[in-house]
Amino acid sequence: MSQEGVDWPNLDAIWISHLHLDHCGGLASFLFGTKHAPQTQSRQKPLRIFGCPGISKLLSAIDDANDYGLFDQPFLVELREISTAAEFEILPELRARVFSTPHTHESLAIRLTDRSGASLVYSSDSGYDEGLATFARGVDLLILECSFWRDKPTAKHLELVEAMRLARLAEPRKVILTHLYFEWDGIDLESKAKELWPGETMAARDGLRMEV
Ligand SMILES: [Zn+2]
Ligand SMILES: [Zn+2]
Repeated sequence: MSQEGVDWPNLDAIWISHLHLDHCGGLASFLFGTKHAPQTQSRQKPLRIFGCPGISKLLSAIDDANDYGLFDQPFLVELREISTAAEFEILPELRARVFSTPHTHESLAIRLTDRSGASLVYSSDSGYDEGLATFARGVDLLILECSFWRDKPTAKHLELVEAMRLARLAEPRKVILTHLYFEWDGIDLESKAKELWPGETMAARDGLRMEV
């Protein structure tokens, strides 16, 4: 975040979709940073962390392992595990709902909607489930995992033909494919996607910023 010029000392909220380390491994280090960095010592507003069931246990285990005091911050840290389909407020006027994805038992896709109605779905990691398309129906921006181009060796991730089938069902305004494994190296994702779904698809990349 620092490298990308993101205002990390004033981050409002964090969402943790599931407990695989590529999705939550940076959280303890981040909290260790905010605890000690000069940029956060005078921060007043709370940091809100929302996540799948188990995130609290994971953070506490890391915390206890070396007495880091990760929750003892200059500002308030609110950690909340989400386990129901009930809508909640991730920030004032930013509503959220989750959907359980076929990946690990705790994996949750999230749908965010702001006051103006602008909406975003992030799939978390996921296998193929048309329920995810229903969940993402009509969304402005669908950020969808697409680990594999084709011939996926696991049911717990998506390949392009499935991702585009979900896009066809969900009819989002725009799709960003992410969580791209090395099988994608050298493949023109955007043109391959276009062959399967006529809407706008782009490949995620580090530092990408979008306005929804
Ligand atoms: Zn995962
Ligand atoms: Zn992952």
